[in-house]
Amino acid sequence: MPGVEVSTSDGHLLALGVRELPPSGRSPEETIEFVRARGGISIVSHPYHPFRHSMYRIPGCDAVEVFNSKFIFGLANFWARRGATRLGLPMVAGSDAHSARSVGLGVTIVTVGEDGDVLEAIREGRVEIDGKRTPPVAFLGQMGRWVKKRLRGGERR
Ligand SMILES: [Zn+2]
Repeated sequence: MPGVEVSTSDGHLLALGVRELPPSGRSPEETIEFVRARGGISIVSHPYHPFRHSMYRIPGCDAVEVFNSKFIFGLANFWARRGATRLGLPMVAGSDAHSARSVGLGVTIVTVGEDGDVLEAIREGRVEIDGKRTPPVAFLGQMGRWVKKRLRGGERR
């Protein structure tokens, strides 16, 4: 499934099922509209997370990532779940994997109908989350690489 994480003006947003790259820097609402117009769905990734260019509100999207396996400190997953519950939005999990060993730590189980439409199943909330937190060693390894890059003045996101 094609998918991309977009930097909106307020924070990161996942766009699934689109083959055209949504422009970055627009408001979440404009980005969500762009994605919907192309048949895709929008998911707020890691909301309320302090270090990941995260949104601190839940816009009118299709689903919310309420379990981010990277999140090992603080209450971001709690606030994400609370926001999704208040708005009645489907809840999904994400690994946020930046290395192969972290792939699959955050799992979303999607119950797809006979039509095989995964996006529609997520939109309708036929999802369950499962997962475990990224092992602290892997998390700290990533943090270390991130810090080294910044110190060298290398890649910036
Ligand atoms: Zn992100």
